[in-house]
Amino acid sequence: MALPARVLVSACLLGDAVRWDGGHKRLDAAVLRRWQAEGRVVGFCPECAAGLPVPRPPAEIEPGADAAAVLAGRARVVARDGQDVSAAFVAGAEAALRAAHEAGATVALLKDASPSCGSTCVHNGCFAGATVSGRGVAAQRLVAAGLAVFAENEVEAADGWLRALDRELAPPARC
Ligand code: SF4
Repeated sequence: MALPARVLVSACLLGDAVRWDGGHKRLDAAVLRRWQAEGRVVGFCPECAAGLPVPRPPAEIEPGADAAAVLAGRARVVARDGQDVSAAFVAGAEAALRAAHEAGATVALLKDASPSCGSTCVHNGCFAGATVSGRGVAAQRLVAAGLAVFAENEVEAADGWLRALDRELAPPARC
């Protein structure tokens, strides 16, 4: 029997205490629990993989810039204390892509609004809680590499995508 299609999931959505504030954002969803039971889930935190500590100062993509510009070295991710953490965010994005490739995952479910994992929105760089449309650095890297990336409120759509992949991965029926 073919293995089920795998999915890269933000570690904080799995309940891992890896966020900047030392907390998590566990996603209480039956679909996610089923994925775990099916052995599909590859948990990953780009910022921790890059060596950033827990807790750490919050960071945002600088105002007016986007993740593609960060990856191209034309914009920065800046922590609230003023530190330029761009290199760590780019390293975390590359590590996320490696983890996906090693696991054979072509789908990701990522925590939205994060400067790494956001897939529909990110904070606007002013540390005031406001968001703008856009992606985090890791999400941008995964999308650019061809992965299908979903936010946590799109878990049902991600499940549909995985089921379609399962059908593609299944060996043809014998006649
Ligand atoms: S980098 Fe991603 S996985 Fe890590 S804490 Fe932030 S949102 Fe969660």
